[in-house]
Amino acid sequence: MDLNEINSKLESIAYSKSMAFCYSCYKEAPTGTCKSCHSDDLMRLLPDSGCEYGVDWIVKELIEENLNFVDSEEVFEQMIEDCYEETTQVGFMRLSTVQVMKDQDPIGWDIAKGEYIDGLAEDGQLITFNNGSSYYWIHDVELYIEENLDILEEAC
Ligand SMILES: [Zn+2]
Repeated sequence: MDLNEINSKLESIAYSKSMAFCYSCYKEAPTGTCKSCHSDDLMRLLPDSGCEYGVDWIVKELIEENLNFVDSEEVFEQMIEDCYEETTQVGFMRLSTVQVMKDQDPIGWDIAKGEYIDGLAEDGQLITFNNGSSYYWIHDVELYIEENLDILEEAC
């Protein structure tokens, strides 16, 4: 799935899990038009969460509730250990390569970590829904979409 497909499927899932809601009348409007005031300027209501315009916020909530975000520190450490050796000889000591790197240059470590994570996102392995505050594995998101496809088909 490319990003557009992922986003549009997540939006469809968000629509199917939420309900049109007239905020002025404070009523659900399942047909898409409020029966009381005939407005079609409706919010989306997500039971137990609240109501807002649009579905972007619902997509965020569904992802946060159902998927684990990526621990970027752990992912970067793993990559470093795979690329270099797990331990490094310093004088007569064998030390953890990751620990030595972090201790010696914590700023350099953080910059390289950020670049690595950005690279994974550019490669289409990671995806963010909040401008990079947290990332998810795309394959986890695809799995979530597949698990919810039946809901989409019912809605069609
Ligand atoms: Zn209304």
